Amino acid sequence: VLCVSQDFDFFYLVQQWPGSYCDSDKSSCCYPTTGKPAADFGIHGLWPNYNDGSYPQNCDPDNPFNESEISDLLTSMKKNWPTLACPSSSGETFWSHEWDKHGTCSESVLDQHSYFETTLSLKQQTSLLQSLKSAGINPDGSFYSLEEIKDAIKQGTGYTPWIECNEDSSGNSQLYQVYLCVDTSGSNLIECPVFPKGGKCGSQIEFPTF
Ligand code: 5GP
Ligand code: 5GP
Ligand code: 5GP
Repeated sequence: VLCVSQDFDFFYLVQQWPGSYCDSDKSSCCYPTTGKPAADFGIHGLWPNYNDGSYPQNCDPDNPFNESEISDLLTSMKKNWPTLACPSSSGETFWSHEWDKHGTCSESVLDQHSYFETTLSLKQQTSLLQSLKSAGINPDGSFYSLEEIKDAIKQGTGYTPWIECNEDSSGNSQLYQVYLCVDTSGSNLIECPVFPKGGKCGSQIEFPTF
């Protein structure tokens, strides 16, 4: 029996709150050369994963990131997948890292153009900020419980997220990244087969401004 090889079990769709990247104790941030991003969640990546919690990476050095394959997506990439790392860049370094490390591990299902297009479309589907705001959870420096945050996202998306926290410069736990799971086609959200382990949150979690 022949079968197409598909060397992963599901994806994590990972989105980051820019206020918490920029406000963290570890790193400062740099706005992209295209200017300060919108006060919205941005894409970090779409990461192939195994059901046992491990994951493949850097799967195909012969298929490096090639920006010319996604020229039609660049306007949307700059808006929805902005880089906040220093030094400032227009984003290719971040996108290239994400494709080379993660995207090449799902290339049997999504070629480079489909990988970025699919990830952009998943971000639109999840409307994280809207889900949170609808539940009265606003990025204004207020504090919320982990349960409130998870319930709001579950209410909005239909699926249970994993929340990763980091700390601001005063040591407050804050909402940093949201993980949702996606089937191997990249089309549908699913309940996570396994949750990531890291990103411990405090009992009260700050949602900082950006
Ligand atoms: P950190 O150690 O900061 O959590 O993660 C460092 C990098 O490892 C992430 O940016 C991501 O590329 C990768 N990574 C961390 N956890 C996971 C995971 O559960 N699944 C996958 N596919 N990659 C991960
Ligand atoms: P990961 O390996 O965890 O998928 O990606 C993290 C890498 O992407 C790091 O090398 C980090 O410096 C780079 N990077 C560039 N821009 C960003 C950003 O806006 N957020 C995060 N988390 N990493 C970024
Ligand atoms: P439970 O499975 O009882 O919901 O949670 C077990 C432990 O994992 C508790 O310490 C809880 O605070 C933590 N936890 C549950 N959900 C999340 C999450 O989305 N993110 C983080 N960082 N911890 C969580």
